[in-house]
Amino acid sequence: MAIVRYNVHNNGRRHAGSVNTRQLPDGTALTCAHRKPRPSLVPSIMGDIDAALRMPMRPLGNTGLEVSVLGFGASPLGGAFGAINEAAGIDAVHHAFRRGINFFDTSPYYGLTKSETVLGRALRDLPRSEVVLSTKVGRYGVDPRDFDFSAARVTASVAESLERLQVPYIDIIQCHDIEFGNLDQIVQETLPALAALQSQGLVRHIGITGLPLEAFHYVLDRAPPGSVDVVLSYCHYCLNDTTLLGSLPYFRTKGVGVINASPLSMGLLTRGGPPDWHPAPPPLRSAAAAAADHAAARGWDISALGLGFSLRQPDVSSTLVGMFTREMVDENINTALRVLGSTEAAAEESQVLAEVADILAPVRNLTWPSGRPLPSQGQPGTQPADA
Ligand code: NAD
Repeated sequence: MAIVRYNVHNNGRRHAGSVNTRQLPDGTALTCAHRKPRPSLVPSIMGDIDAALRMPMRPLGNTGLEVSVLGFGASPLGGAFGAINEAAGIDAVHHAFRRGINFFDTSPYYGLTKSETVLGRALRDLPRSEVVLSTKVGRYGVDPRDFDFSAARVTASVAESLERLQVPYIDIIQCHDIEFGNLDQIVQETLPALAALQSQGLVRHIGITGLPLEAFHYVLDRAPPGSVDVVLSYCHYCLNDTTLLGSLPYFRTKGVGVINASPLSMGLLTRGGPPDWHPAPPPLRSAAAAAADHAAARGWDISALGLGFSLRQPDVSSTLVGMFTREMVDENINTALRVLGSTEAAAEESQVLAEVADILAPVRNLTWPSGRPLPSQGQPGTQPADA
């Protein structure tokens, strides 16, 4: 029974010391009501806890939580990017945790509850208090009619998510893709309903997610201080789009933590290209493919370049990447450790990044419409993107 050093984070508090590999750092972890203790798996998952020393953590706004700089996006566990092998997906979650990722994000929408179910099966074997778990309410399908931000629906939704995730509480509950809802309803009805669940201890912190940054501003301008803890923005801080930068000072004044999702622009910045449902306009798709080809010709993987670029932004607490295999987890963690070991890209990487930026320049910050018109705008409503 070997002795290993550990350095773990628990709701913002850091503990360091040494433990026997057959003990958990936090003895409460396997005793929660919904968890089926599976002691035989514990040493295999916790045995490599020393590796957690290498994954940097950042505070998440004023929540008191510390999240790994690289977060695990679980939408692929629901099949958003193609069919997955459930056992491999569970193994990917365990492997990510073992290598120091503590932040896992899902939604009832991903795979129409499948992502939550698979993630829940994986979480059974992890110590609950060492995981920061976020899920969402309000979005339940691909059609604009599949959104429901009413108090009754989001209250029921949290109960359903707790059941599927097999946990007694959720760390961050987020209103999913707010631009498809009525933003005034979100301020006046949804956030208060989630606050009621917070006071019952079922959820710890509250967030909002979506594509148009203006929707965050609309809600944060009107919601009472402290009623939104976290903003999850996607596809706005990556190689082809950095518009999130314009909102970071505002988010800081509002005291909200910032999560950047989809640093690979939902698959645009990958060797294999995006899935069919990807809403990017054709010029953006072509430029991203050209950038990937150019990077490959220069001996670089566009995903490693793109993830490295996003992770270097210090004002983002965690960058969420969608993953579903152990190999993908390793690849992305290795990128994180490489780029966070130094503040500057190495000379050769900087050169390739500059060449890729030139290729992407004509489509820089080109996005796609998402959701209803904001109350102050007159643009037509649109179909939701898959993530
Ligand atoms: P992403 O940009 O992380 O891209 C995911 C795609 O990249 C998948 O196809 C995955 O297989 C692939 N990939 C991952 N690592 C790779 C690597 N090293 N090499 C090659 N390909 C790689 O997009 P995403 O999954 O949509 O976003 C990440 C997470 O953020 C989601 O899973 C979800 O949890 C969250 N998210 C939330 C919202 C929202 O709330 N509205 C929107 C988007 C994303």
